Amino acid sequence: MNFAKGSLGWIEVVCGPMFSGKSEELIRRLRRAEIARQRVQIFKPGIDERYSGDHIVSHSELKIRSTSVRDAADVDSRLDLRTEVIGIDEAQFLGEEIVPLVVRLADMGKRVLIAGLDTDYLGRPFHPMPELLAVADEITKTLAICMQCGNPAKHTQRLIQSEDLIVVGAAGMYEARCRRYFEPNLARPSAATETAAAVTSTTSRRMISGSRQPLTSTPPAAPCLDQSAPLAAPECSTPATRPPRAR
Ligand code: ADP
Repeated sequence: MNFAKGSLGWIEVVCGPMFSGKSEELIRRLRRAEIARQRVQIFKPGIDERYSGDHIVSHSELKIRSTSVRDAADVDSRLDLRTEVIGIDEAQFLGEEIVPLVVRLADMGKRVLIAGLDTDYLGRPFHPMPELLAVADEITKTLAICMQCGNPAKHTQRLIQSEDLIVVGAAGMYEARCRRYFEPNLARPSAATETAAAVTSTTSRRMISGSRQPLTSTPPAAPCLDQSAPLAAPECSTPATRPPRAR
């Protein structure tokens, strides 16, 4: 997308599931702004210190320096008025106040680059990403590769049992899945109990001979750090149990 040069600000949002390349894309765009000698400031939520406290680090180990922040007010207070380009990773953890802030920055003539998860571990819109998509000038939706079948994956599958909205983790705790293989109930202990009779003892999905009905293992319980949506998120409401799809 070509934007007019000069003082026109805009908002670019990169969204998708985990492992889809959001951070890689954000880093690529920010690097180009730095090469162009623009003034760049980069932020990420302090809650996400999986790989580094002072860098955004992609799963492919690309990295770029960043400042850890608590929330939108923290971003605002650390901004230098001379900054031309503002990058924000994992925006879903920064709360709803990030929305009016990025609009104000764009109205001031800043280029604002945002990356974040568009859906949570149950496949629901992950606020405030829907609101950020609504105010964006440009949107890029990235897809990962389904770890079960290799098709394009739009979901983040939680592999541990926890119904907390925010659980910080990477490979081993989450994997990318397509629509067919996405199993929101895998993360729900209550759902696992309800469906115990249908669960096998294997550690990964298998196909029943002659059908496409997947069998699902009971994932091991694991300790988790609370992370993934509005920071002080209340416990998730319990969605209806959805049986695995047979296709
Ligand atoms: P995101 O920010 O969306 O979580 P990253 O930019 O951090 O993604 O990482 C993307 C990289 O993750 C890919 O280039 C690839 O090296 C790695 N990767 C690991 N698992 C997958 C997967 N299932 N699909 C695609 N890429 C994956």
